[in-house]
Amino acid sequence: RAKDGGRGVHFPYEPSLHADAEERRQLEFSLRKALEKDELLLNFQPVVDAKTEQVVSFEALIRWQSEEHGLVSPGKFIPLAEDTRLIVPIGTWVLKQACKEAMAWPGHVKVNVNVSPEQLVEPDFVSTVVDALTRSGLDPRRLEIEVTESIFLSDAEVARVALAQVMALGCQVALDDFGTGYSSLGYLRKLQFSTIKVDRSFVQGAAQGSSESLAIVRAVVAMAHSLEMKTTAEGVESEEEARLVRTMGCDRIQGFYFGRPMSSDDARSLFQTDYRELRA
Ligand code: C2E
Ligand code: MG
Ligand code: MG
Ligand code: MG
Repeated sequence: RAKDGGRGVHFPYEPSLHADAEERRQLEFSLRKALEKDELLLNFQPVVDAKTEQVVSFEALIRWQSEEHGLVSPGKFIPLAEDTRLIVPIGTWVLKQACKEAMAWPGHVKVNVNVSPEQLVEPDFVSTVVDALTRSGLDPRRLEIEVTESIFLSDAEVARVALAQVMALGCQVALDDFGTGYSSLGYLRKLQFSTIKVDRSFVQGAAQGSSESLAIVRAVVAMAHSLEMKTTAEGVESEEEARLVRTMGCDRIQGFYFGRPMSSDDARSLFQTDYRELRA
């Protein structure tokens, strides 16, 4: 830019900046075609009851198997989709697909679907949810939408109204990655979240003996319970971590220890096995 003219200090960084921008441009080009090329799919990760260890829900996690870029992680393409608004059609597809898949599971098992702020503030968002529910026939009470605190950064009132409408349909709303955002607690008074998901960083910290992490998890659980919300501990990777979060009063547990994100076929057969055991 003209303003920077003559400030040679910027030059050494230009090639890599350019490479990043170019990679992004190519990724965006491919992502625009991913839906019609049928390159997106959902994996499902079990969420278990902390006491009974029974599966109470599956979280739908998107995967992109790109012809040009191979398997691209959501950590990489979701931010890009959000910046380019491609998250709107992609998110609609996720909602429909997740509801459809959940119909193949036992009736007490819920499905959790992540929704980005950009999706939530779309005027069509609530009718997209209604559409996904009616087309699949899924009971609204079996759908839990996951949002992060970032929805309260901009358009907070639009986001609040959309979530209130989704709750009025009978769906639940979870607050994801709790404690990692730039949040004030004020919004907890305005919306009755069903669940607070305690971010993996606190679970890990607590397991490593950090007294700060331990105190934070305990405080979040106490606060959630007094607001009549449940807590899910995210990213539990070992038996030791599972025991710890259970001791601290977390209601549900999600993490590699109980199951990695799996294909919908594997999620389905998990219940078929359960049924066989029940019949035996
Ligand atoms: P999230 O919603 O917090 O999802 C949990 C992430 O933690 C997933 O990463 C999951 O694979 C990972 N995880 C679960 N258990 C463990 C564990 O024990 N250890 C470790 N190290 N990781 C664990 P994933 O699938 O890569 O997704 C990353 C993020 O991308 C999600 O975080 C969510 O914010 C976003 N995302 C995924 N699918 C969608 C989607 O359909 N729509 C939107 N808008 N965002 C999505
Ligand atoms: Mg989530
Ligand atoms: Mg999370
Ligand atoms: Mg997370």
